[in-house]
Amino acid sequence: MSRKFPAGVATGSLVKEIIQDAKENKYALPACNVIGSSTVNAAMEAAAEVNSPIIIQFSNGGAAFNAGKGLKGENQLAAIKGSVAGALHIHTLAEAYGATVILHTDHCAKNLLPWIDGVMDANETYYKQTGKTLFSSHMLDFSEEPLEENVELSKKYLERMDKVDMTLEVELGITGGEEDGVDNSGVDNSLLYTQPEEVAYVYEQLKQVSNNFWVAAAFGNVHGVYKPGNVVLTPKILDNSQKYIQEKFNTKTNPVDFVFHGGSGSTLEEIREAIGYGVIKMNIDTDLQFAFMEGIRDYFGSKSEYLKAQIGNPDGADKPNKKIYDPRVWVREGEVTFKKRLIQAFEDLNNVGRLG
Ligand SMILES: [Zn+2]
Repeated sequence: MSRKFPAGVATGSLVKEIIQDAKENKYALPACNVIGSSTVNAAMEAAAEVNSPIIIQFSNGGAAFNAGKGLKGENQLAAIKGSVAGALHIHTLAEAYGATVILHTDHCAKNLLPWIDGVMDANETYYKQTGKTLFSSHMLDFSEEPLEENVELSKKYLERMDKVDMTLEVELGITGGEEDGVDNSGVDNSLLYTQPEEVAYVYEQLKQVSNNFWVAAAFGNVHGVYKPGNVVLTPKILDNSQKYIQEKFNTKTNPVDFVFHGGSGSTLEEIREAIGYGVIKMNIDTDLQFAFMEGIRDYFGSKSEYLKAQIGNPDGADKPNKKIYDPRVWVREGEVTFKKRLIQAFEDLNNVGRLG
């Protein structure tokens, strides 16, 4: 049986092919935030089970956590090492799992650039050795800078990435809420909705360097789960930008590859509407964090009488509890609930059985 895209980490032109396939067939890839081997393995397991491509991404904090909270160092050492170690883990295992993985890093603001600089060095070295980069793509988030500066700096990095066939994700406007220490919960509401002219500007500028870029535009999306407030999710904003660009540059329909940040808590209707407007990637972090915790919480809740001592439980004072407190057992419970929530995301994104 032939498979549409090979198992393993997809890099270079294969990334664009997968994204094109998603766009043509009206589905999007979940971009699943991971923090270590446990969540990474559960993500690969989910992708293989639904037989569809996935984006696995490390945030700066997630990468540093993968290196270990005890690792100290300057200039983003832990985030660089944790990214590289995580990537090598996935390169080693993705094919064995039967998972097709686009490997990505999440938000990198200007002050975190030494992180991506270090990871790019590792990408370039790996590319020389193997013809592939470690990561398929990176996100740079200069949305706090003025638009011209955002685009100029993004362009500079895209030039470097293009030499090793990588893809860049940029951010325009501001995703509300708080994530990884960036707190946008108090910003002016107008910044939460990107204007078509802004998207057209970044599209025109980045196209001069490469076709391999994605745009995270703000359409009232927020990080984390919120009580409904006065920020309203408005996918139509993406449609307005697509139509504006299509007309201005005489392109095909939905010329921009859009990314949906802050996907947690969105309704199926909102997700499907966004996909119709060219969203090819939806980030999912908050809901997966909760899901990972749920399995462990419920396990501890149901086994509490077996976790008080190494020996002795309601079945007898001399009964051993080793098989119950073994971390492999309860960490696995978290992996199972994480995987279940991730599979729901694949379904919401109309991304099941896409590898044929
Ligand atoms: Zn985000």
